[in-house]
Amino acid sequence: MRLRNIPGAREKVSASPWCIQDAPALKGRWRTLLSEDASLYVEIGSGKGRFLTEMAYRNPDRLYIGIERYSTVIYKALRKLPEHAPGNLRFVLMDAVLLGTVFGQGEVDGIYLNFSDPWPKDRHAERRLTSRTFLARYDEILAPGGRVAFKTDNRRLFDWSVEQVVPAGWEIEALTYDLHTDETLSEGNVMTEYEERFSSEGHPICKYIIFRSENGG
Ligand code: SAM
Repeated sequence: MRLRNIPGAREKVSASPWCIQDAPALKGRWRTLLSEDASLYVEIGSGKGRFLTEMAYRNPDRLYIGIERYSTVIYKALRKLPEHAPGNLRFVLMDAVLLGTVFGQGEVDGIYLNFSDPWPKDRHAERRLTSRTFLARYDEILAPGGRVAFKTDNRRLFDWSVEQVVPAGWEIEALTYDLHTDETLSEGNVMTEYEERFSSEGHPICKYIIFRSENGG
Protein backbone atom coordinates (compact mmCIF):
# COMPACT_ATOMS: atom_id res chain seq x y z
CA MET A 1 0.00 0.00 0.00
CA ARG A 2 1.36 3.45 -0.93
CA LEU A 3 0.66 6.15 1.62
CA ARG A 4 0.94 9.87 1.10
CA ASN A 5 3.51 11.39 3.40
CA ILE A 6 1.98 13.88 5.82
CA PRO A 7 4.64 16.33 7.02
CA GLY A 8 4.80 16.41 10.81
CA ALA A 9 2.60 13.33 11.30
CA ARG A 10 5.22 11.41 13.27
CA GLU A 11 5.86 14.38 15.56
CA LYS A 12 2.13 14.87 16.19
CA VAL A 13 1.70 11.18 16.98
CA SER A 14 4.67 11.40 19.36
CA ALA A 15 3.13 14.35 21.18
CA SER A 16 -0.41 12.97 21.45
CA PRO A 17 -1.68 11.82 24.87
CA TRP A 18 -3.80 9.23 23.01
CA CYS A 19 -0.67 7.49 21.74
CA ILE A 20 1.52 5.35 23.94
CA GLN A 21 5.16 6.27 23.31
CA ASP A 22 6.95 3.55 25.28
CA ALA A 23 4.63 0.57 24.87
CA PRO A 24 7.15 -2.10 26.06
CA ALA A 25 7.27 -0.28 29.43
CA LEU A 26 3.58 -1.17 29.88
CA LYS A 27 4.08 -4.88 29.20
CA GLY A 28 2.17 -6.82 31.87
CA ARG A 29 0.60 -3.67 33.35
CA TRP A 30 -1.63 -2.16 30.64
CA ARG A 31 -4.59 -2.17 32.99
CA THR A 32 -2.97 0.56 35.07
CA LEU A 33 -4.23 2.88 32.32
CA LEU A 34 -7.85 2.17 33.32
CA SER A 35 -8.44 -0.21 36.23
CA GLU A 36 -7.09 -3.53 37.46
CA ASP A 37 -10.33 -5.36 36.68
CA ALA A 38 -10.74 -3.87 33.19
CA SER A 39 -10.60 -6.25 30.26
CA LEU A 40 -8.16 -5.46 27.47
CA TYR A 41 -8.89 -5.58 23.73
CA VAL A 42 -6.49 -4.94 20.88
CA GLU A 43 -7.27 -4.08 17.27
CA ILE A 44 -4.40 -4.82 14.91
CA GLY A 45 -4.36 -2.46 11.94
CA SER A 46 -6.72 0.05 13.50
CA GLY A 47 -6.61 2.39 10.51
CA LYS A 48 -8.51 5.63 11.05
CA GLY A 49 -9.84 4.34 14.34
CA ARG A 50 -13.60 4.51 13.93
CA PHE A 51 -14.28 0.93 15.08
CA LEU A 52 -12.16 1.22 18.20
CA THR A 53 -13.48 4.66 19.16
CA GLU A 54 -17.07 3.43 18.97
CA MET A 55 -16.23 0.25 20.89
CA ALA A 56 -14.57 2.37 23.59
CA TYR A 57 -17.68 4.54 23.93
CA ARG A 58 -19.95 1.50 24.15
CA ASN A 59 -17.82 -0.33 26.72
CA PRO A 60 -16.28 2.20 29.13
CA ASP A 61 -15.08 -0.57 31.48
CA ARG A 62 -12.85 -2.09 28.80
CA LEU A 63 -9.48 -0.83 27.63
CA TYR A 64 -9.00 -0.65 23.84
CA ILE A 65 -5.58 -0.44 22.21
CA GLY A 66 -5.20 0.21 18.47
CA ILE A 67 -2.01 -1.08 16.87
CA GLU A 68 -1.10 0.62 13.60
CA ARG A 69 2.20 0.64 11.78
CA TYR A 70 1.95 3.93 9.88
CA SER A 71 2.18 7.28 11.65
CA THR A 72 0.24 8.93 8.81
CA VAL A 73 -2.68 6.58 9.49
CA ILE A 74 -2.61 7.08 13.28
CA TYR A 75 -2.38 10.81 12.66
CA LYS A 76 -5.65 10.61 10.69
CA ALA A 77 -7.23 8.59 13.51
CA LEU A 78 -6.16 11.27 16.01
CA ARG A 79 -7.62 14.02 13.85
CA LYS A 80 -10.94 12.18 13.79
CA LEU A 81 -11.13 11.75 17.54
CA PRO A 82 -14.03 13.74 18.96
CA GLU A 83 -13.35 16.51 21.45
CA HIS A 84 -14.45 14.28 24.33
CA ALA A 85 -12.63 11.18 23.19
CA PRO A 86 -13.10 8.11 25.38
CA GLY A 87 -10.51 7.73 28.15
CA ASN A 88 -10.31 3.96 27.65
CA LEU A 89 -8.76 4.21 24.19
CA ARG A 90 -5.09 4.44 23.12
CA PHE A 91 -3.08 3.91 19.96
CA VAL A 92 0.37 2.44 19.52
CA LEU A 93 2.56 3.06 16.49
CA MET A 94 4.19 -0.32 15.86
CA ASP A 95 4.26 -3.38 13.66
CA ALA A 96 2.21 -6.30 14.98
CA VAL A 97 5.17 -8.66 14.56
CA LEU A 98 6.39 -7.11 17.83
CA LEU A 99 3.21 -7.85 19.84
CA GLY A 100 5.11 -10.11 22.24
CA THR A 101 7.43 -7.26 23.26
CA VAL A 102 4.49 -5.08 24.24
CA PHE A 103 1.91 -7.41 25.81
CA GLY A 104 2.57 -9.96 28.52
CA GLN A 105 1.65 -13.63 28.36
CA GLY A 106 -2.15 -13.97 28.65
CA GLU A 107 -2.60 -10.22 29.17
CA VAL A 108 -5.08 -9.60 26.34
CA ASP A 109 -8.75 -10.67 26.41
CA GLY A 110 -9.53 -10.28 22.74
CA ILE A 111 -8.02 -9.34 19.38
CA TYR A 112 -9.81 -7.69 16.45
CA LEU A 113 -8.57 -8.00 12.88
CA ASN A 114 -10.66 -5.78 10.63
CA PHE A 115 -10.10 -5.79 6.87
CA SER A 116 -6.51 -6.84 7.24
CA ASP A 117 -4.18 -6.39 4.27
CA PRO A 118 -4.49 -9.46 1.97
CA TRP A 119 -0.83 -9.89 0.96
CA PRO A 120 -1.97 -11.77 -2.20
CA LYS A 121 1.43 -13.20 -3.19
CA ASP A 122 2.11 -16.70 -1.83
CA ARG A 123 5.60 -15.74 -0.72
CA HIS A 124 4.06 -13.10 1.58
CA ALA A 125 1.51 -15.44 3.18
CA GLU A 126 3.24 -15.28 6.57
CA ARG A 127 2.63 -11.54 6.69
CA ARG A 128 -1.14 -12.06 6.65
CA LEU A 129 -2.47 -11.27 10.11
CA THR A 130 -4.47 -14.53 10.03
CA SER A 131 -1.46 -16.73 9.21
CA ARG A 132 -0.36 -19.52 11.55
CA THR A 133 2.70 -17.42 12.37
CA PHE A 134 0.47 -14.62 13.65
CA LEU A 135 -1.92 -17.03 15.39
CA ALA A 136 1.09 -18.28 17.38
CA ARG A 137 1.88 -14.67 18.35
CA TYR A 138 -1.72 -14.14 19.47
CA ASP A 139 -1.60 -17.35 21.46
CA GLU A 140 1.24 -15.93 23.57
CA ILE A 141 -0.60 -12.78 24.61
CA LEU A 142 -4.21 -14.01 24.77
CA ALA A 143 -5.75 -14.99 28.09
CA PRO A 144 -7.20 -18.53 28.31
CA GLY A 145 -10.50 -18.44 26.45
CA GLY A 146 -9.55 -15.23 24.62
CA ARG A 147 -10.99 -14.71 21.16
CA VAL A 148 -9.72 -13.45 17.80
CA ALA A 149 -12.43 -11.86 15.63
CA PHE A 150 -11.69 -11.29 11.95
CA LYS A 151 -13.79 -9.41 9.37
CA THR A 152 -13.08 -8.99 5.67
CA ASP A 153 -14.82 -8.59 2.33
CA ASN A 154 -11.99 -10.54 0.66
CA ARG A 155 -13.36 -14.05 0.14
CA ARG A 156 -10.04 -15.50 -0.99
CA LEU A 157 -8.27 -14.22 2.09
CA PHE A 158 -11.13 -15.39 4.29
CA ASP A 159 -11.16 -18.93 2.85
CA TRP A 160 -7.39 -19.16 3.26
CA SER A 161 -7.66 -17.83 6.82
CA VAL A 162 -10.32 -20.41 7.74
CA GLU A 163 -8.00 -23.17 6.46
CA GLN A 164 -5.28 -22.04 8.89
CA VAL A 165 -7.41 -22.29 12.03
CA VAL A 166 -7.56 -26.00 12.92
CA PRO A 167 -4.00 -26.93 11.81
CA ALA A 168 -2.76 -24.06 13.99
CA GLY A 169 -4.51 -25.58 17.04
CA TRP A 170 -7.48 -23.19 17.16
CA GLU A 171 -11.23 -23.73 16.87
CA ILE A 172 -13.95 -21.79 15.12
CA GLU A 173 -16.64 -20.51 17.45
CA ALA A 174 -18.69 -18.68 14.83
CA LEU A 175 -18.46 -17.99 11.12
CA THR A 176 -20.52 -16.19 8.50
CA TYR A 177 -20.10 -15.30 4.85
CA ASP A 178 -22.61 -12.45 5.11
CA LEU A 179 -22.28 -10.68 8.42
CA HIS A 180 -24.92 -8.03 7.83
CA THR A 181 -27.68 -10.58 7.22
CA ASP A 182 -26.55 -12.92 10.00
CA GLU A 183 -29.03 -12.40 12.83
CA THR A 184 -26.68 -13.49 15.59
CA LEU A 185 -23.32 -12.11 14.49
CA SER A 186 -24.68 -8.79 13.23
CA GLU A 187 -26.02 -7.95 16.67
CA GLY A 188 -23.99 -5.07 18.09
CA ASN A 189 -21.74 -5.02 15.02
CA VAL A 190 -19.65 -1.86 14.79
CA MET A 191 -18.72 -0.94 11.23
CA THR A 192 -15.16 -0.01 10.33
CA GLU A 193 -14.28 2.53 7.63
CA TYR A 194 -13.49 -0.26 5.15
CA GLU A 195 -16.60 -2.21 6.09
CA GLU A 196 -18.83 0.75 5.39
CA ARG A 197 -17.20 1.35 2.03
CA PHE A 198 -17.22 -2.26 0.82
CA SER A 199 -20.69 -3.12 2.06
CA SER A 200 -22.11 0.03 0.44
CA GLU A 201 -20.62 -1.26 -2.83
CA GLY A 202 -22.58 -4.50 -2.34
CA HIS A 203 -19.76 -6.76 -1.07
CA PRO A 204 -20.84 -9.24 1.61
CA ILE A 205 -18.68 -9.19 4.72
CA CYS A 206 -17.20 -12.43 6.09
CA LYS A 207 -16.43 -12.88 9.77
CA TYR A 208 -15.03 -15.53 12.04
CA ILE A 209 -14.45 -15.75 15.78
CA ILE A 210 -11.83 -18.27 16.87
CA PHE A 211 -10.28 -19.46 20.10
CA ARG A 212 -7.31 -21.58 21.06
CA SER A 213 -8.20 -25.25 21.26
CA GLU A 214 -7.43 -26.83 24.63
CA ASN A 215 -5.81 -29.75 22.85
CA GLY A 216 -4.11 -27.43 20.36
CA GLY A 217 -0.62 -28.31 19.17
N1 SAM B 1 -9.17 -1.76 10.28
C1 SAM B 1 -9.42 -0.60 9.44
C2 SAM B 1 -10.75 -0.72 8.76
O1 SAM B 1 -11.32 -1.83 8.76
O2 SAM B 1 -11.27 0.28 8.26
C3 SAM B 1 -8.27 -0.41 8.43
C4 SAM B 1 -8.10 -1.50 7.40
S1 SAM B 1 -6.67 -1.25 6.37
C5 SAM B 1 -7.00 -2.24 4.94
C6 SAM B 1 -5.44 -2.25 7.18
C7 SAM B 1 -4.64 -1.46 8.21
O3 SAM B 1 -3.80 -2.35 8.91
C8 SAM B 1 -3.72 -0.41 7.57
O4 SAM B 1 -3.92 0.83 8.22
C9 SAM B 1 -2.31 -0.97 7.82
O5 SAM B 1 -1.35 0.04 7.96
C10 SAM B 1 -2.51 -1.78 9.08
N2 SAM B 1 -1.57 -2.90 9.22
C11 SAM B 1 -1.36 -3.89 8.32
N3 SAM B 1 -0.43 -4.74 8.78
C12 SAM B 1 -0.06 -4.30 10.00
C13 SAM B 1 0.88 -4.76 10.96
N4 SAM B 1 1.63 -5.85 10.74
N5 SAM B 1 1.01 -4.08 12.12
C14 SAM B 1 0.27 -2.95 12.35
N6 SAM B 1 -0.63 -2.46 11.45
C15 SAM B 1 -0.79 -3.12 10.29
